[in-house]
Amino acid sequence: MISAISRPYIVASVPVLREHGVAISRCFYQRLFAAHPELKNMFNMPNQQAGTQQQALAAAIFAYAANIDNPDALAPVISRIVQKHVSLGISEAHYPIVGKHLLDAIAEILGAAATPELLAAWAEAYGLLAAALVAEERKQYQAHGIAPGEYLSVTVARKQKESDSVTSFYLRATDGSALPAFQPGQYISVAVDIEQLALRQLRHYSLSDAPDNGHWRISVKREPENVAADGPYPAGLVSNLLHDEYHEGDVLQVSPPCGDFVLAQEDRRPLVLISAGVGVTPMMSMLHGSLQQSPQRPVNFLYAALNGRHHPLKGELNSLRRRHGQIRSHIAYEKPGADDRPQKDYQQQGYLQLAQLPDALLPHDGSYFLCGPAPFMQVQRDALLARGVAAHQIRQEVFGPSLLQHLQ
Ligand code: FAD
Repeated sequence: MISAISRPYIVASVPVLREHGVAISRCFYQRLFAAHPELKNMFNMPNQQAGTQQQALAAAIFAYAANIDNPDALAPVISRIVQKHVSLGISEAHYPIVGKHLLDAIAEILGAAATPELLAAWAEAYGLLAAALVAEERKQYQAHGIAPGEYLSVTVARKQKESDSVTSFYLRATDGSALPAFQPGQYISVAVDIEQLALRQLRHYSLSDAPDNGHWRISVKREPENVAADGPYPAGLVSNLLHDEYHEGDVLQVSPPCGDFVLAQEDRRPLVLISAGVGVTPMMSMLHGSLQQSPQRPVNFLYAALNGRHHPLKGELNSLRRRHGQIRSHIAYEKPGADDRPQKDYQQQGYLQLAQLPDALLPHDGSYFLCGPAPFMQVQRDALLARGVAAHQIRQEVFGPSLLQHLQ
């Protein structure tokens, strides 16, 4: 717990961080990478260039300061950070380095306002957070039986095109051993060397298949170069490399399964899985997992895509629907193609509009899981809250740096 001497300084930092948080985190990353260029391997460098990582860190520091006396609000955020850190191989030795450059960045950006008392308060607050994270991450590494930064070797056993832009990779342990168990909704980090940048980059990919079937499957969307109106976006580094350069028989280095976006063991409430685009990946795993673990539990599967050609794992979903009567599904295709025959009560044209759907698809007592682009999730979350679904019934996974908007 933060000391009585430091608390007022941290609380008084909240408006300052609102104003200068992004500048502090930008300065922090510049200092960190100048002193430790090897740490670029641990961070998503395109996110650095796009500025999203800086925003995410600023949001995290802000949320920490704003909730310093509210451990209940911080607990789920800390749990999520621990899972991310373990999947990235963050070790105890990284914390003092990050702490030093964070304090230096606060001092640089705030100038004279960064009094010795304020810096001492932040040193204490950071030390407490680091100690909590290190303790929890140590437990996680022990449970996985690996050291920080150690990866598992897996071989691509099969590559399967799932839609115009998504390809699945079926993975098996290279040494023939059994792969660790995972919970549906969890992800692995894939480590790939980007030779032209002399960088190793890690990306998270949700496991998209049923648990306990001997392999892991990730389903990766190719991120193409995009010459959008708001500026050209370069092609995604890792997704394109996986699509183009990794074939059956090739070996990948991956983390153990991580993440807390998972089905709760004892939860028997109707399960509602709402996703868009490649956000369908954890949902397919949860769908399989729920059917295996609780065969009678109702599952509503709501999904949005541009059209059927951009609907990964469509055949698999349809096959499960035919075999399991407790699955209700609703699919929204924004611009259906010629092959996308409308199907009554199942497939609609346009955006997914939760306000227009019947209660049978969106039960008041449901357990809701959301995954998709950030604006999609915001719209669907707002629509659920407007229908009377409580915030604690909704879980969500962001496929990018999390801006923690629901904590502030
Ligand atoms: P990056 O090189 O990281 O680029 C990402 C985007 O940033 C691209 O669109 C690129 O155009 C843009 N960009 C690059 N440079 C700039 C710049 N300077 N300015 C502005 N924009 C820029 N993805 C899946 O396909 N399937 C999954 O199942 C999946 N699961 C995930 C689970 C989790 C928990 C998380 C966090 C993410 C998941 N992702 C998943 C996303 C995945 O981790 C990667 O982010 C994704 O594959 C893109 O990585 P990349 O290296 O190809 O693109």
